[in-house]
Amino acid sequence: MRTDNVIECKGALILGAGLAGLFTALKLTPYPATVIAGARPGHSGSSAWAQGGIAAAVGEGDRWQAHARDTIAAGAGACDPGIVEIVTREAAARIEDLIAYGAPFDRKPDGSLALGREAAHSAARIVHVTGDRAGAEVSRVLAERALAAPSIALCEGFHAIELALENGRVAGVFARYGSGTDARLVLFRAGAVIFATGGIGALYAVTTNPLESRGEGLGMAARAGAAIVDAEFVQFHPTAIAVGRDPAPLATEALRGEGAVLIDETGRRFMPAVHQDAELAPRDVVARAIHREIAQGHRVFLDCREAIGAGFSRKFPTVYAACMSGAIDPATQPIPVAPAAHYHMGGIATDANGRSSLEGLWAVGECASTGLHGANRLASNSLLEALVFGARVADDIRGTVAARLQGSTPPAPQRFALAPPPKLLREVMTRYLGLERDDAGMRAALSTITAMERAANGEPSLLNMTAAAKLVAAAALARRESRGAHFRNDYPQPENTFKRNIQTLADANRIASSDLVSREPLRGQS
Ligand SMILES: Cc1cc2nc3c(=O)[nH]c(=O)nc-3n(C[C@H](O)[C@H](O)[C@H](O)COP(=O)(O)OP(=O)(O)OC[C@H]3O[C@@H](n4cnc5c(N)ncnc54)[C@H](O)[C@@H]3O)c2cc1C
Repeated sequence: MRTDNVIECKGALILGAGLAGLFTALKLTPYPATVIAGARPGHSGSSAWAQGGIAAAVGEGDRWQAHARDTIAAGAGACDPGIVEIVTREAAARIEDLIAYGAPFDRKPDGSLALGREAAHSAARIVHVTGDRAGAEVSRVLAERALAAPSIALCEGFHAIELALENGRVAGVFARYGSGTDARLVLFRAGAVIFATGGIGALYAVTTNPLESRGEGLGMAARAGAAIVDAEFVQFHPTAIAVGRDPAPLATEALRGEGAVLIDETGRRFMPAVHQDAELAPRDVVARAIHREIAQGHRVFLDCREAIGAGFSRKFPTVYAACMSGAIDPATQPIPVAPAAHYHMGGIATDANGRSSLEGLWAVGECASTGLHGANRLASNSLLEALVFGARVADDIRGTVAARLQGSTPPAPQRFALAPPPKLLREVMTRYLGLERDDAGMRAALSTITAMERAANGEPSLLNMTAAAKLVAAAALARRESRGAHFRNDYPQPENTFKRNIQTLADANRIASSDLVSREPLRGQS
């Protein structure tokens, strides 16, 4: 690939300035890190939009073992227990780190942390900020600290499109900056490359994720040969606010934790008949129940009038503002809701130190799949996973990759607007790879994605997105069971034993180009 400029990074190169990228950079200090991202650090990615908070067993009487049990129960038999133990055990120390960086978590009058309760958690263990502003405030604090750290270079306005490989090892990232005729390509070279590129939600037509969450990190890693795991596990948030906005604003799970209930247009509560925990059942159960109500012609609402009422604007200012933008006052009116693509449990396969299968590439945060979430993420465990693995990746790199004495200065970037993923791709993902899937639909999705890939004419950004989409479709087709967030009408039950679904892009291409999946068992390990 022709480049206009080569930047030699002194230490690690981090792609992504959400919570995972910024926290990893801070934990690396004084080891040098260059962080590149499309949008402004502290404001970019899903991180800045997170509402509920961060789960950690820090409350009186709560134990990491209880948090681990809840995580495993939500994960539908697909969590890696060793990873669950690591994350839940190390959670309290990472919350302490955030407090030391200045995160203004809500506190009780006695000064102890005020903890919220969310669906499928057996205790109140969510640290939060001003009710629903955890993501915005923690991202802001981390960005301020990173900007002030002499060992961290923060570079916004770069759109990464491809991994650079040298002698089979990941050696850097190609990124574009500027736009139109001024567009340039730069190669950032580094001894260690960390992907912190977030999720894939924007590949769906209905999503809570920002446009940046379009699976490009997953696609880039896969195109370079990385192993991807359980790509079929996509979580749909049950209660996106249905006011016709793209992305759809979110009505946080914490509202149901406070007692808000789901009703249809007649005021009928339907969740008690679906699950013993009613509105606090695991996310996939609630999301599918709402999906089915809507498919039967009902409208669905989150009724916060009794549980929260007049205190709404103070307790949940972000949700309140989103509702009011659609002329709904949630203190006095039920909020119209629908499920939306929200979180990717699958991702770049990583080990307990965040290493991918490619030498020189680490992955952290939503783009990685560590085995924590299994088939269904427990609420507020994703920011926690980014923190725990951010620290582990930093330790691993500091201990194994020598920093260089000299580096070079990146060019000053220009702001650019990211075009949305192709409409057809988003429609296909929502229609065929949504809350309910079947063989015919997934095959239709795969052939459309393959046709789009052929028509992409080698455009790397588009190929990153089609690669991510293809991996979701191929993995979903290969998993002939229903488990957690992956529900197939043609295989409605789980298999007795869970097998991780490890695929490379070459595997996904084979599935897409043949009928192989009907003859071959799943690849992977128990
Ligand atoms: C509305 C909403 C509410 C949520 N609430 C919670 C919650 O309360 N608790 C919780 O635990 N989780 C929550 N989540 C999930 C959680 O926010 C995400 O999983 C988490 O923030 C992911 O962090 P990240 O750093 O991995 O990625 P992100 O924060 O998404 O950051 C990705 C970064 O990568 C950059 N990037 C991506 N591709 C490229 C590219 N090609 N070139 C350059 N830069 C690129 C982006 O610009 C961005 O800087 C929520 C998610 C949403 C959408």
